[in-house]
Amino acid sequence: MNFDAVAALQVTLVVVSAVFAGANYLAWRLFGHPRHALIWTFAYLLAMAQYLVNLVRELLPSYEFYWLSANLMSTLLVIAVVWGHRQRLGRVTPWHWAFALFALIMVTQLVFTLWVPRADVRVSLAPAFACIALLHVAWLLLRHGPEPVLAQRVAAVIHGLFGLAQGLAAGIALQFGAVASPTQGQAYNLVNFALMPTFFVAMGVAVIFLLATDLSNKLRLLAITDQLTGVSNRRGFLQAADLLLARARRHRGPLAMVLADIDFFKRVNDRYGHSVGDRALAHFAQVLRESVRAEDCIGRIGGEEFAIVMGESSVGDAGRMVARVRQALVEHPMADNGEKIPISASFGIAAFAGNESKEALLMRADQALYQAKEAGRDSVIVAEDAHPLGMVSLG
Ligand code: GH3
Ligand code: MG
Ligand code: MG
Repeated sequence: MNFDAVAALQVTLVVVSAVFAGANYLAWRLFGHPRHALIWTFAYLLAMAQYLVNLVRELLPSYEFYWLSANLMSTLLVIAVVWGHRQRLGRVTPWHWAFALFALIMVTQLVFTLWVPRADVRVSLAPAFACIALLHVAWLLLRHGPEPVLAQRVAAVIHGLFGLAQGLAAGIALQFGAVASPTQGQAYNLVNFALMPTFFVAMGVAVIFLLATDLSNKLRLLAITDQLTGVSNRRGFLQAADLLLARARRHRGPLAMVLADIDFFKRVNDRYGHSVGDRALAHFAQVLRESVRAEDCIGRIGGEEFAIVMGESSVGDAGRMVARVRQALVEHPMADNGEKIPISASFGIAAFAGNESKEALLMRADQALYQAKEAGRDSVIVAEDAHPLGMVSLG
């Protein structure tokens, strides 16, 4: 084999592909088995195989055999890259379309390589497909990428530029006619050997950054989530409250703070055991979740004490939310081995005064909650005017 600069580049790309396949596989093993990391591992293994075929093409039975197998791998590789991104963003891959496109590309490639040899068609086909696929990935990342957006934007730019480079290669190849002239071949090689490897490496790094960002998001979420109930823990709740309070101050809008404490919860534990108590807490949190709006934040701020902060909400809105919670507790009590375990809770509601601190607001809601307990439990008290809404029976 004549070991020239092109062959040296192919060796580098085989190694780089192996490194990225390894990195994605490690990310799959270490970062909680994200399926897309495994798909990308497969994609980089295909890339490795493709560059390996380029390297040993002289050892293969015929040029046509080399060309078709390299194109087969490159098409599958592009499909795997897109599949991984769609999987990561929770989008279903339309497999009938992917398969139809794959079949169309391979049949066209077969025809224009074996029976109607035309350099323009057979050389432009793979980069044209890669161009569309990579621009699609860039669009997906910009449009559907989760927060924080920085890693998605960087990845979108890299995939977009890579797609444009592929488009440039396809455009040059389309000028070839049946057979490429030496100058045309040179122009194509310049794009193929100078731009492509650079973007290929950049894409690999971007993908690893996406995986790392996802992991850091997952850990951040874990640190502010209560594992038993799935709602925010105290820290997460206070962070969310800060944001909603800042917004309410800025827009001078209403905001309601609700504190809820399960009544006689100690008795539930004493009578049914701690694990049933745990399930009752999860049940209560689920009832809260089903009673609030998506933009409200629920936190478990103590053992059996919960808080709900509701932006753009009046005391009336909060009262209606609490009424839904109490109704659901009565209508859908938790059951243990067929035995119903009724639980009730006491609630304190405070309307944000606009110029008070978060601590002061929580304090007022807590005082209202204390009064609700004093009033006999299973009741609702609104801070300041101390209006006992909850004394009204809900049937
Ligand atoms: P009150 O109506 O005055 O609120 O009465 P209570 O029994 O609910 O109040 P108290 O504060 O005396 O008891 C709270 C109980 O909640 C005591 C504790 O064992 C229980 N608890 C706190 N955290 C957990 C938990 O994670 N799981 C379970 N099962 N119980 C918990
Ligand atoms: Mg309690
Ligand atoms: Mg308590």
